[in-house]
Amino acid sequence: MTTANRLGAIREKVEAGARLSFEDGLELEASQDLFALGTMANLVRERLSGNFGFYNVNTHINPTNVCVYTCDFCAFRADLGEERAYVMDQPQIEERAKQAHERGATELHIVGGLHHKLPFQYYVDVVKWIKAVAPEIHIKAYTAVEIEWFSKISRKPIETILAELIEAGLGSLPGGGAEIFHPEVRQKICGAKASTERWLAVHRAAHRLGLRSNATMLYGHIDEPRHRIDHLVRLRELQDETGGFQTFIPLAFHPDHSEMSEIPKPSGVMDLKVMAISRLMLDNFEHIKAYWVMLGLKTAQVALSFGADDLDGTVVHEKIYHEAGAETPQEVTVTEIRRLISEAGRIPIERDTLYHRVEREAGSWSSREHLSTPTLAAAVSST
Ligand code: SF4
Repeated sequence: MTTANRLGAIREKVEAGARLSFEDGLELEASQDLFALGTMANLVRERLSGNFGFYNVNTHINPTNVCVYTCDFCAFRADLGEERAYVMDQPQIEERAKQAHERGATELHIVGGLHHKLPFQYYVDVVKWIKAVAPEIHIKAYTAVEIEWFSKISRKPIETILAELIEAGLGSLPGGGAEIFHPEVRQKICGAKASTERWLAVHRAAHRLGLRSNATMLYGHIDEPRHRIDHLVRLRELQDETGGFQTFIPLAFHPDHSEMSEIPKPSGVMDLKVMAISRLMLDNFEHIKAYWVMLGLKTAQVALSFGADDLDGTVVHEKIYHEAGAETPQEVTVTEIRRLISEAGRIPIERDTLYHRVEREAGSWSSREHLSTPTLAAAVSST
């Protein structure tokens, strides 16, 4: 079969809503026909999300940059005692939460380093401090790698760690720390931190306890096509089992100030290709996010035609990718993000973390109906 015929066979599967195989994924990776990939991904996006483009209003908090691990790609971490090392205290966390509340944020996204000395209780307290001053804000906190670390330092099972955080006010888990699951890559770039099996076990446990979570993939460094497709297939399998993932976020590698600074940034073509292939392989994920902080606003906007249906948030105080050389601004205004979505031909919808439509009036906000596929399908047919 010629390449065009093989791509044609995949297109037939996509049109019929059939699942793509690992080999199909490799075929897509080998294709040079970016627009064919985009057209197929767009078909799936439209089927799941109609003509809507989602965004949220959020703020990031990175409670500490001190980390016991030394992942090669990380420009954020600091050693204990280093001049740039910090740990946010209670007044700083509360201040940030109050600011977020005053700015109308519906979500706090909290991730950080794995501090050598802080006890698990500190991380529980961070959640409690926020809830005390901004009870209505959704707390999306701690990657699977952090949860695994808390389990190690407190000698408590993952389920107990999650239950204590839920009790404190945790609302969902972010998708970070997944990097690349394949051991050939994981061992080289972040061999010390939570294994693939442990990352998946944390999300499995979270879903079992009723938490929704996201998933990511850090691409564009030493990963090869087969590693990326393997990663997507592993996520798809867990999603088949639990149904607890909401959104997949492909994360473009940023080399600056990291141990891998000799590797060039992924190109625009690679960014769009990974976005499209992610949408095509992850047939059981409702949403694919173009995280503009890493992609840049322009590529993220174009990604809305390559499978993505979400531009993430207005994001204030993002440190992790800006330390690694992201040249994007720290935040975009709601007006700007809505303009980007509209210009891409989508209808902008503000969502909360769990994909309920947000409505705002007179300085306050409220969450409305869940933006599930049937709700969106109904909205599509009435617009
Ligand atoms: S990526 Fe996370 S775990 Fe790895 S060094 Fe950076 S902060 Fe630590």
